[in-house]
Amino acid sequence: LPRARQRYVLSPERLEGVHRGATIRLPKEAAHHVARVVRLREGELIAVTDGGGRSFLVRLRRVDARAVEGEVLGPEYPEGEGRDPEAPVAVDLAFALLKGDRSETVLALATEIGVRRFRPFLSARTVVRPEGEARRRREERFRAVVREAVELSGRTHLSPVEPIASFADVLASFSSYAAVFVPYELAAASHGGVYPHLLEVYRTLPPAALYGPLLLVIGPEGGFAPEEAEAARHAGAHLVSLGPRILRSETAAVYAVSLLLSEEAFLSARPSGEVS
Ligand code: SAH
Repeated sequence: LPRARQRYVLSPERLEGVHRGATIRLPKEAAHHVARVVRLREGELIAVTDGGGRSFLVRLRRVDARAVEGEVLGPEYPEGEGRDPEAPVAVDLAFALLKGDRSETVLALATEIGVRRFRPFLSARTVVRPEGEARRRREERFRAVVREAVELSGRTHLSPVEPIASFADVLASFSSYAAVFVPYELAAASHGGVYPHLLEVYRTLPPAALYGPLLLVIGPEGGFAPEEAEAARHAGAHLVSLGPRILRSETAAVYAVSLLLSEEAFLSARPSGEVS
């Protein structure tokens, strides 16, 4: 099967009504990347996606300083071939902002693994609290990181990154999920093991809930305050353990996301049109 050398997320408008045989012209940034950074040539294949689940294989027909154009060969993942890279389990990740570039690490890795939507938030013990312009720049950077991870991993869904919210906002959204999991390190076996493991709870969900949407909520470096854990439980979340070792927030996020998304291999039927 032909494979794309590079992939680009384009705006949905640019891919509207695109069909086999159509010519598409790449926007400036992607064109620059093709011609100058990776130096592809006429005849080579790229893939373009609208970030909303549609993606096309494109054969380059023109690569020069003024324009990069190609012919659409067809869908990149033809239906029925079982190559759709999007997970059948819808997992959203809410995570407390982390110091340095650790939030970006979480976003990049969790996008590759298949998270559907990101919801950064500030909680009682969150250390980094950007305001105004710094906050907007941070959110922009988050979206750029996710986009790059989508392009690298061959996904067709550009996972949205919501504006940085409060923990209260996250709590208020619990009812729109089939299940909410709040990994809480005080739930770990070393602290008495009073809470069950994430997978133990996931596997006892009713069959329809296995596909989600599921929400994982990961705390900051200092963890959740006990009142926050209690509020989450009260709002309907499952407080769960990720095992007997304390993980750093970014490890906990990636590990928890991996556990839930690894279950896709065991779910037989795929509901259609699940990713929104
Ligand atoms: N303040 C804590 C560590 C917090 S770990 C301490 O130093 O003891 C940061 C986040 O990762 C937590 O909020 C939790 O969501 C998650 N986490 C880490 N290890 C975990 C575990 N073993 N079980 C459940 N959640 C864990």
